[in-house]
Amino acid sequence: MPNGAQNKAINKTLRDTFGYTRLRAGQQEVIDSVLQKRDTLAVMPTGAGKSLCYQLPALHMPGTTVIVSPLIALMKDQVDKLAQAGVSAIEVNSTLTAREEKAALESIRNGETEMVFTTPERLTDPTFLDALRQNEIDLFVIDEAHCISQWGHDFRPAFLEISNAVDALGNPPVLALTATATSAVTEDIGRQLKRTLEVINTGIFRPNLHYRVVHATNDREKLEHILRLVQSLEGSGIVYTATVKNADLVYEALKDAGVEVGRYHGRLSAKERETTQDDFMADRCRVMVATNAFGLGIDKPDLRFVVHYQVPGTLEAYYQESGRAGRDGKPARCILIYDTRDKRVQQFFLGGRYPTRDDVVHAYEALLAADAQSQPIPYAQLEAQTPDVAGNKLKVGLKLMKDAGYLKQDRNLRYRIVNPDVKAEDLLHLADEYGKKSEADREKLERMIFYAQSAFCRWRVLLEYFEGAEDFDRCGTCDNCLHPPELKPVKKSRLPRWARRAPLGAVSQYKAGDRVRVPRYGEGRVESATAEQVEIGFPDGKKRQFLCAYVELA
Ligand SMILES: [Zn+2]
Repeated sequence: MPNGAQNKAINKTLRDTFGYTRLRAGQQEVIDSVLQKRDTLAVMPTGAGKSLCYQLPALHMPGTTVIVSPLIALMKDQVDKLAQAGVSAIEVNSTLTAREEKAALESIRNGETEMVFTTPERLTDPTFLDALRQNEIDLFVIDEAHCISQWGHDFRPAFLEISNAVDALGNPPVLALTATATSAVTEDIGRQLKRTLEVINTGIFRPNLHYRVVHATNDREKLEHILRLVQSLEGSGIVYTATVKNADLVYEALKDAGVEVGRYHGRLSAKERETTQDDFMADRCRVMVATNAFGLGIDKPDLRFVVHYQVPGTLEAYYQESGRAGRDGKPARCILIYDTRDKRVQQFFLGGRYPTRDDVVHAYEALLAADAQSQPIPYAQLEAQTPDVAGNKLKVGLKLMKDAGYLKQDRNLRYRIVNPDVKAEDLLHLADEYGKKSEADREKLERMIFYAQSAFCRWRVLLEYFEGAEDFDRCGTCDNCLHPPELKPVKKSRLPRWARRAPLGAVSQYKAGDRVRVPRYGEGRVESATAEQVEIGFPDGKKRQFLCAYVELA
């Protein structure tokens, strides 16, 4: 179809099926790339209309579109919405009854459905893959694509199976979508998918999110802060804690104070979680106290605040969780309560994440015991044979051996040993590679802590981390912009590299005697200045230091 005609057809679908008059800039670029059958990675902020980027092209392609997502809770909603718009879509996941699943597979085999929503786990099921193979798959979409990267903050081993499924489905073009990814993660997504991806980054800046950090030094202070904040903030919101214990603690405290509050964490029954979530979505409770188990399936655009009771392990996690606020584009607050002791909680979590040398060796021994040299072995059998290796670590261990060329997976994703000469030290070496990843995790935690302690504009820290943006000055709405913190004299060499921003030989824009103004403190005179900081004398006789970004000539 010539380009003009195609554009016309797309605009018609946009209007008639989805009810929009035009696409946003980022969406247009992604959709063009998809329609040209390029493998694409779109980094788009939450609320930027990601789903339209595959739903619109899907309706202009002859075959079926497969959408993989970890968010089972959202699938039904998407399928229902599409059905209302007259588009045939189905979900295939663990929530279906045997009967529903049979009907779904039948409909896929008959090519009656435009879009199939499913989970990465399901893509390891040979019957399901076989049903998909009966028709042409012309687009393969991976939502929350950062989950495929072992360098990402939300790595899910099940995502490692996705590239096999893409192979098994005849290598259709891929569209990977994520709201947060550093360049290291975007590169890794391509590597894991074995594809060169066209990366379209529409930027993460959302001026309606107002960031702030509140410092506390003990649990009593933290509870006082959370009570005060929740009582003064309007509208509904989420309070995130890093542990179940703290979720219970904060929940009880807010309940005692008369707040309409619910709680959500992994130790509650599925029924309790469902009830609380429904109450929250229907505005029957105003505040949800939750661990990070909550939120992946949440589509509530009018959250007015997200408060973190404890510091998360990475800025990716923090941005993603806090970014659930204000999806409607109206102002929303993202507040972190920071207690230096919380860093230890995250350090503890970092301890048990990756397979140890023993885990990798056990996995290989299980393959040998199952005679994987002469016959392919399904994952479930290996899992049963290695009760001492936690499931995720087994998957990662197998992936490591596969990448190293010791194993292969067949069409049905069973494992076979292809290199029987593997020595013990080779396996140990593989496990040690993961030591480097732990190191990377520790660095990520340091960046999160830097954010919490920084005197820079909060958005500037986020944008510099995610986008390497050097040119962003300040947002004007975060706590540091509104109330520039006085700097304690710090030796520049003690600042991390990314904070030492002034190039060598840079000259200060201020000179001694200049009349300047700082928000909150008012006017004063420059005493001394470097390219980065200014010392100002104020009428009250005090001298205070600020970052240049907060100072302007009076
Ligand atoms: Zn700011």
